[in-house]
Amino acid sequence: MILLDGKTTAAAIRAEVRDEVARQKAMRGRAPGLAVVLVGQDPASEVYVRNKVKACEETGIVSRKLTPPENIKQVDLEALILELNADPDIDGILVQLPLPLGLESQSILDLIDPCKDVDGFHPVNIGRLAAGLPGLRPCTPAGCIELLKRHNLPTRGKRAVVVGRSNIVGKPLAMMLMQSGEYADATVTVCHSRTADLAAEVRRADFVFAAIGKPRFITAEMVKDGAVVVDVGINRTESGLQGDCDFEGLWGKVAAITPVPGGVGPMTIAMLMQNTLAAFKAHLEM
Ligand code: NDP
Repeated sequence: MILLDGKTTAAAIRAEVRDEVARQKAMRGRAPGLAVVLVGQDPASEVYVRNKVKACEETGIVSRKLTPPENIKQVDLEALILELNADPDIDGILVQLPLPLGLESQSILDLIDPCKDVDGFHPVNIGRLAAGLPGLRPCTPAGCIELLKRHNLPTRGKRAVVVGRSNIVGKPLAMMLMQSGEYADATVTVCHSRTADLAAEVRRADFVFAAIGKPRFITAEMVKDGAVVVDVGINRTESGLQGDCDFEGLWGKVAAITPVPGGVGPMTIAMLMQNTLAAFKAHLEM
């Protein structure tokens, strides 16, 4: 049994980023800059942003937190993004989602310069991913793959099931697993709320990726012996944070599994640091 420990793995990645940031800063005279835009005061978003800013401090990336009020007008938020696009000290722009009611997020995301789109949500970057071209990849799916890589669990030739088809997790994760490479090259099935027999689909998989948003939804009966389970879910319940998988039920039955918390969550932030460093290098070479 392998515990896919995202906390330790992410710490190792942050240390690598920190060393490279220090090297780049000595060479180029400045560190990468990340703008984090947090509109309004959603408590969960505040926690995520705090963790991202903390990771920047640890890696030497300069973070700039912008906190426009909840009632900011769409046009003013758009103007802010355009300003950040033009700012030579900013290499990455992240708009924390969800935006408050009344603001239209897709048109905001569409405005971010694709070269500064460190969340990898811009249609250009999604398109590049679909086409197998290099580009900034969405952090959560990239974190899932990186976690497998760092535990030597290649997906090549294996059956992978992704439960969830959101634009930020399920869909890009499925696309990554379809690319060529040792940690891709999977035979991918994508499931969602309209899947006819979800348990049967999941039971066939060597690799199960759960991105559903329902606590303990994937149970031991649904997973085959020796599978690898990557749980993306973060659900706030009365008994604390829970994943989409029944960790206790699966432990002992599967070959490897991520805990929640301490699995994919910290990996997502580590990938954001990697993306910001990559965007910085590309920016300086332009
Ligand atoms: P969404 O709500 O956008 O998508 C959920 C997906 O699950 C949808 O495709 C939905 O299907 C599917 N689904 C819902 N119910 C069922 C069901 N009964 N059977 C099969 N499929 C179902 O969520 P996200 O993708 O944004 O997030 C998923 C989870 O991951 C959440 O818990 C979220 O908090 C967490 N998360 C964690 C991150 C991290 O860093 N660890 C980052 C981002 C998210 P349909 O499309 O048909 O509605």
